Amino acid sequence: PQALAMLLDKQLHRVGTQHVPAAKIYSADELRVALSKDELINYYQPKVSLSIGELVGVETLVRWRHPVDGMVFPDQFVGVAEEHGLIDELTRVVLQAALTQAKRWQEIGLRLKIAINVSMDNLTSLDFPSFVSEQAMLAIVRPQDVVLEVTESKLMKDQRASLEILTRLRLKRFRLSIDDFGTGHSSLAQLRDIPFDELKIDKSFVNGVHANETIRAIYLASVSLAKQLRMEVVAEGVESRDDWDFLRQTGCDLAQGYFISPPMPASELPAWAAGWTQRIRQGLLLGAAAT
Ligand code: C2E
Ligand code: MG
Ligand code: MG
Ligand code: MG
Repeated sequence: PQALAMLLDKQLHRVGTQHVPAAKIYSADELRVALSKDELINYYQPKVSLSIGELVGVETLVRWRHPVDGMVFPDQFVGVAEEHGLIDELTRVVLQAALTQAKRWQEIGLRLKIAINVSMDNLTSLDFPSFVSEQAMLAIVRPQDVVLEVTESKLMKDQRASLEILTRLRLKRFRLSIDDFGTGHSSLAQLRDIPFDELKIDKSFVNGVHANETIRAIYLASVSLAKQLRMEVVAEGVESRDDWDFLRQTGCDLAQGYFISPPMPASELPAWAAGWTQRIRQGLLLGAAAT
């Protein structure tokens, strides 16, 4: 693990986290208004199995439909929510809407695992696990079908509380996923301390994996680590056919990225799913690697 940590750190310094600075950062007051006026809206991005191409679930990605500025992305306001005590409310709003949506999809025959992003160090309300349970029950979604994608935040406010919350969620059988694996400085410590079910390899170790030896080494080490810990592995940021083919050959379980589909409004998912199933049936994406 120590060697892996060094390898991951080295890579981090070489390529950075590929974080594009946001155009405008909003204030806490503006965000409060957005929350009270219901201006946040969920987009959903498919997660598909690499073995048979099946649509397994979706990740919920919040957007802000700003009355003047148009579509605002989470990088421009999630950090603000974390710093100003609004992240708990934001998470609840996103989760409730996502589970309600999952119920609607179920009613039309689309059974999907639904993933929500949570920031580890800002999830401090001890009744959050019972809130999640209640919402899942109301939506008739099994805990096993709810995935909580956990990221570290810079604040490290109350780690003990968040550990306690994550443990309670796990005991209720919700699935825990470690998001952006490889970019945080304590990813490995988190793996040791928290019983994650899923490991999501950060896009900086996925994008270009077929062609870049360094990225490939880190990607393969991460897959191997996940397998040894009996976790499901997800590759995020899959943008090309070459990377898709490479992932299929190396035992990664699920894939997500622009190559499959960008995040979309809930209303577009049923038609997308039908189109995707057709492409898979035609064998377009599961053939031998093009290389
Ligand atoms: P994330 O959870 O790692 O989500 C993946 C991000 O990568 C999303 O950006 C997604 O749109 C983008 N992406 C998907 N496929 C590709 C690809 O093929 N290539 C590239 N370059 N990017 C791809 P988005 O939606 O802007 O979200 C950014 C981050 O904001 C998320 O990263 C997550 O950490 C955070 N976030 C989003 N929604 C929420 C939320 O409801 N709550 C919290 N706490 N954080 C959220
Ligand atoms: Mg995520
Ligand atoms: Mg991620
Ligand atoms: Mg990411």
